[in-house]
Amino acid sequence: MAGSWKGPAIGIDLGTTYSCVGVWQHDHVEIIVNDQGNRTTPSYVSFTETERLIGDGAKNQAAMNPMNTVFDAKRLIGRKFSDPLVQSDAKYWPFKVVSGPEDKPMIVVSFKGEEKQFYAEEISSMVLIKMKEVAETFLGTEVKNAVITVPAYFNDSQRQATKDAGVISGLNVMRIIIEPTAAAIAYGLNNRANSVGKKNVLIFDFGGGTFDVSVLTIDGSVFDVKATAGDTHLGGEDFDNRMLNHFVQEFKRKNNKDISGNARALRRLRTACERTKRTLSYTVQTMIEIDSLFEGVDFNFNITRAQFEEMNMDLFMKCMETVKKCLIDAKMDKSCVDDVVLIGGSTRIPKVQQLLKDFFNGKEFCQSINPDEAVAFGAAVQASILCGEETQKIQDLVLLDVTPLSLGVDTIGGIMTVVIPRNTTIPQKAEKGLITIVDNQLSMNIKVYEGERSMTEDNNLLGHFTLSGIPPLPRGVGAVTVCFNIDADGILDVSAKVNATGVENKVRIKQEKGRLTAKEIKKMVQEAEKYRLEDMEHKKGAMARNALEYYAYKMRNNVKKMISHLAYGDKLKIDNAIEEAFVWLQNNQLTKKAVVFEVKLKELESVCNPIISKAHDAGFGGP
Ligand code: AMP
Repeated sequence: MAGSWKGPAIGIDLGTTYSCVGVWQHDHVEIIVNDQGNRTTPSYVSFTETERLIGDGAKNQAAMNPMNTVFDAKRLIGRKFSDPLVQSDAKYWPFKVVSGPEDKPMIVVSFKGEEKQFYAEEISSMVLIKMKEVAETFLGTEVKNAVITVPAYFNDSQRQATKDAGVISGLNVMRIIIEPTAAAIAYGLNNRANSVGKKNVLIFDFGGGTFDVSVLTIDGSVFDVKATAGDTHLGGEDFDNRMLNHFVQEFKRKNNKDISGNARALRRLRTACERTKRTLSYTVQTMIEIDSLFEGVDFNFNITRAQFEEMNMDLFMKCMETVKKCLIDAKMDKSCVDDVVLIGGSTRIPKVQQLLKDFFNGKEFCQSINPDEAVAFGAAVQASILCGEETQKIQDLVLLDVTPLSLGVDTIGGIMTVVIPRNTTIPQKAEKGLITIVDNQLSMNIKVYEGERSMTEDNNLLGHFTLSGIPPLPRGVGAVTVCFNIDADGILDVSAKVNATGVENKVRIKQEKGRLTAKEIKKMVQEAEKYRLEDMEHKKGAMARNALEYYAYKMRNNVKKMISHLAYGDKLKIDNAIEEAFVWLQNNQLTKKAVVFEVKLKELESVCNPIISKAHDAGFGGP
């Protein structure tokens, strides 16, 4: 509903490895730089004895604090702990993941000396809080409204969980949109001026943890997603893992030492592998050197681009299969694709580009959009449209997303009866009649699934509920109608009614997949606020300590400069006060309260300032 949101609205690309935030301002999208001057922020959260760090600060100290530095929350969100993909990922993570309520994965860390467990939604919400703060600093005002992107292939549960993360972070999630659509908006806006008529665009989005291919038709201001295909569990991190694994083996072979149980060594090697992978995108050979990686032994190994490609060829080929599948789903021949748009850091890998180029018979890629920023760009545009932005440039954009998976119910014999087929444009509403399976059936258990297999046992159970009150009827009679309603975020509601009575007996689907309850979310919102206040308190404390330290150093220098203008007794007084302040700082390393430092600073100032003023009055012209 355009215009119903008050205040500024931002677009957030919540990535597996990096996140990015943008805002529509002065007729264009501004990608906002963070406090470190970077346009993307690592999706990392780190917990220490004294504080919580998010973004660059967290990633920078990952090697020192590997077990309490959490990343990849997007690979966990909306999944169960027993999911084989979670199990295989967990082997590579230095932080601990355990099974929580309803088999939800819980991330275990030590924070301020206590063991804490967090849901993936909570970690993602912390990253969102950081992105919100980045935007607030830039805009100079509180930001509440946001559009958040998810991979096209995120299922219902993963979308819901992402939305929950937004709520926990204190944002109004105006809309969840899929990453390729967001990228297509960026592409569309950049290419609108010189484009006439319909254009078929293939978006190849290959990030840190997910891979999506989408085919869209852009006709003027209408963005129609024809098909999406992908893998929510394939991305740059898999290449890092493969290289990490390779070097763990090599190190073992060469030195007879196994680093696989050492979180710190693994973290250092992983960081080096990721850097090396990037280097191999522009050079054909490189070397990894890490001093004293494990038990005093240095790590020195060479790797070539060919080796890297060989290591990951099956994953690259998997991507190409997905491209073919997406085109088949879109009922489009590759020759009909006008533009291929690359999004996400992993599209910089030369082999990926080469395979894609060969597939499209040498076609050049569209280079006009930034692969790291396009998704946040599109999300920011969508956010401003929802806010009723009056700019002609974007006002008339219409986005037509699709369902990534078929949605249906379980019918006789465990057959999946599809109610909404895959790649249907959303929002969407569809109904299906269900028949009784025995005579005089009084109730019906309605099980809702997503997936493409013909038997429900091979698909993904989203939820179930029982509908009672069916009047006595013979078997095989159409007694019930189910209604599937997918909103613009791609989130599903299912209801059902008994036909014969005419009474609508609506039941909202009960989430099966361990979604957070409203109560849990409320609790997390409160906790998030508590952590935010603690962070602020910590920052204030650090700044106050800094101010005291700075003043003490400044005074020490001043005294040196004005020594000839100071009476001996005054100099002694200042020297003693400064030395006492340094000893006090040393003894109060763990003090965090800003007020304590402020009082101490006042105390020091009350000794030094009058003496310094006296020296100035007596003719000292220096500082
Ligand atoms: P994104 O989620 O789009 O931010 O993509 C991040 C992923 O892209 C990470 O796995 C990075 O290691 C990877 N990446 C970034 N730059 C490069 C590069 N030059 N070559 C290979 N991979 C890269």
